Amino acid sequence: MKEQTTSAAGQTPTASQNGASKYFKPEEFTCRCGCGLNNISPELVATLDKVRETAGIALRITSGSRCAKHNEAVGGKSDSAHLTGLAADIAIGGSHERYLVSKAAIAVGVDRMGIGMNLVHLDIDKDKSQQVTWLYA
Ligand SMILES: [Zn+2]
Repeated sequence: MKEQTTSAAGQTPTASQNGASKYFKPEEFTCRCGCGLNNISPELVATLDKVRETAGIALRITSGSRCAKHNEAVGGKSDSAHLTGLAADIAIGGSHERYLVSKAAIAVGVDRMGIGMNLVHLDIDKDKSQQVTWLYA
C-alpha cells in the first residue's frame, strides 16, 4: 500500500506529544471573559480526549477555565470546579449528542456530570461528591 503523505489540517487529530491534547487546542479552555486565564487541568484534558474518542463526535467546549469574576457573571457556583480548571462544558445539539457524550463520559470514568438543555458539564474535582449527575433547571 502506498503511504499517504497528504496532511489534512483540522480533519485528523494532531499528534499527541508532551502531554498535548489530541483533539483540543489549549485556547479552547481559556476563560471566556477575555482575562486570559487558562488553568485547565491536564488530567481533565486527557479525560476529554478519551470522551471525544469514545463518543466519536466533535466536541465543542463552551466553558473551561473561569476567573472568579466571569464565574459569577455566568451564574456559576462560588466553589465551581471551573475556577480550579477541573471542569468543562460541552455544547450539546440534541438528545442523541447528549446520549453519546454522557455515555462516553461515564465509560471513561468521569464521576461528576451536569446536564443542561444545551450542554453537558464534565468535572473531575475529587474534593466534591463523586458518582453524581445533576440537572440545570
Ligand atoms: Zn476571566
